[in-house]
Amino acid sequence: MTTPREGTAIEDWLAHRAGGLLVTPAESLFAPLLPSVGMLSEGQFRGRDCAFCGITLSPTTAVDLGAHHIKRSGVDVRWFPRACRTCVEGGYVNALLDAAFSACRALPPPAHLTDLYARLRHEIRRRLPAAWAAAAQAGEDTLTWHAHQRVIDASTDALADGPGDRPSPLTLAMRVAELGRRLRDLAPYPP
Ligand SMILES: [Zn+2]
Repeated sequence: MTTPREGTAIEDWLAHRAGGLLVTPAESLFAPLLPSVGMLSEGQFRGRDCAFCGITLSPTTAVDLGAHHIKRSGVDVRWFPRACRTCVEGGYVNALLDAAFSACRALPPPAHLTDLYARLRHEIRRRLPAAWAAAAQAGEDTLTWHAHQRVIDASTDALADGPGDRPSPLTLAMRVAELGRRLRDLAPYPP
């Protein structure tokens, strides 16, 4: 069984992602990774808009995501993000995939690409255990096992690839698109 390989260089690089870093343990696999602070609109920061998809929330659709400790303009602040019900029920993945698949065409700023990259990796890592479990249940060398294993191998390869040292925006956009394809294949394995 393949397990994800992590390069420390990638982690170091991600730690420097522009636009502020979530102080909340970013690699906690319990929840989807929220956009980093620099990616937030004023409405998302204020909790008026969904932290994931940016839609304006109404009192009946807003879901509180709890208190988060973040750095904003170098100052420690508490952030109380809110999200729409669709995103909370799994729709955040669609917003993430849309952004990933348009990255090469739209070429968003590097900080935006770095944020997408980090969130896609996180989401893939969240889903791999379910894929491992499905493969184990199928029994080694069965057709189903090979189907699961292909998804697992492609995902772990994509995670191990990393962005390289000082990637160009286009290289980073291509990595983001590749992670998007891997996440799409992992969609049937909810975390
Ligand atoms: Zn939303």
